[in-house]
Amino acid sequence: MTSLDDMQDLVSLCKRRGFVFPSSEIYGGINACWDYGPLGVQLKRTIKDRWWNAMTSRKDIEGLDAAILMHPRTWEASGHVSGFVDPLVDCKKCHARFRADHLEPAFLAIHQCPTCRGELTDPRQFNLMFKTFMGPLEDSASQIYLRPETAQGIYVNFLNVAQSMRQRIPFGIAQIGKAFRNEITPGNFIFRTREFEQMEMQFFVKPGDDSEWFDRWKESRLQWQLALGIRPERLRVEPHSAAELAHYARAAVDIQYQFPFGWQELEGIHNRGDFDLTRHQTWSGKKMEWVTETERFLPYIIETSAGCDRTLLVVLADAYRMDDERALLALHPDLAPYQVAFFPLMKKPELCEIAEKLCRDTQMRYDYDETGSIGKRYRRQDEIGTPFGVTIDYDTLSTQTATIRHRDTKAQERIPLESIDAYIKDKSASWVPPKADL
Ligand code: ATP
Repeated sequence: MTSLDDMQDLVSLCKRRGFVFPSSEIYGGINACWDYGPLGVQLKRTIKDRWWNAMTSRKDIEGLDAAILMHPRTWEASGHVSGFVDPLVDCKKCHARFRADHLEPAFLAIHQCPTCRGELTDPRQFNLMFKTFMGPLEDSASQIYLRPETAQGIYVNFLNVAQSMRQRIPFGIAQIGKAFRNEITPGNFIFRTREFEQMEMQFFVKPGDDSEWFDRWKESRLQWQLALGIRPERLRVEPHSAAELAHYARAAVDIQYQFPFGWQELEGIHNRGDFDLTRHQTWSGKKMEWVTETERFLPYIIETSAGCDRTLLVVLADAYRMDDERALLALHPDLAPYQVAFFPLMKKPELCEIAEKLCRDTQMRYDYDETGSIGKRYRRQDEIGTPFGVTIDYDTLSTQTATIRHRDTKAQERIPLESIDAYIKDKSASWVPPKADL
């Protein structure tokens, strides 16, 4: 078995098997926007549910769903209007655009386009926020933004949540939602898009306790990623150097994954100090302090910020294997869009009836397939990551057993019909990613 080495193989599998389609494809597509098909949306939902449950099942974390459109002053306070910019350079000859900080320094130094060798313009600052207008007048007074991150909706609601839910510091607020960035160079499939979803949790702590909470969240988030079944050797935690550190951050690390195109950020964990609450307090004129009988302070914030689409991409990229010239998704059995598939060996009523009853009775996400040869049916399920296939044959009628086939090893064994769910649950709990040669 080998791992994914060309992203294009994953892009084709995703389209062919209903995970991800190019957006508005019949019109030629729209750059860096993608639609999730039936299997993709299921996988994404499972990932989001796991994140949401991991966060909000804790007593010290509350959920939130803030609006995408916010008061424009929010983005002045947050620093996005003045500072959410990337340096943009254009090629005067082929008109390609690049982020200056992503260009090879050698090309930048001599102002040369890496594609056509034409002359590059000087870098100019380009704001990544999408603008639109609120109401019928399209003037500067009605200009608003599509949020470029979900975090600000949490900060401005910090006191609302604390008071309504009677929370005490330390506590956190978790949110999943869309964010929009007019990226200069989107790409690598769903790695960098202009519309994406974030899973963000902001944890409010007493100043002085921030370093300890930062370390705890760093470890906790790494463990969460590993529990998705990602190979540990492909994940790493990288601290930001002093030069990379954002102006608001006291400390920051990235959890990175080794994609075919290199190590890249999957999630950021930041110690933001009191930057955000101080700014919102100043810009809004409203007190954002935490006040008790004995104390009064602006909490520090530890942020965990993961891309939902990017997590899904990591899950798919890490699961992709080539086995005897055939593609296989070795997804964690709990994440697979279908946890089990039921097949009557032949399309005979007595076999279909049993398979249909198994579908009705199972507590798992399942597929049912009665068409084509059994080998073809197994291969289709391998390609969409279904970890177990259960085949009903004529022996089933007399023995009440069926053949269960394992996606990763192709091993088959017979088990009683009544123990299918328990058997799969047991095997899923001890699942490890299959080894790959490359
Ligand atoms: P970069 O420097 O690569 O542009 P960033 O450091 O600005 O990214 P954050 O603002 O920390 O990214 O965003 C948090 C998370 O949101 C990222 O780790 C990533 O998973 C996700 N994310 C950010 N931008 C995009 C995007 N354009 N497309 C998809 N996911 C994104």
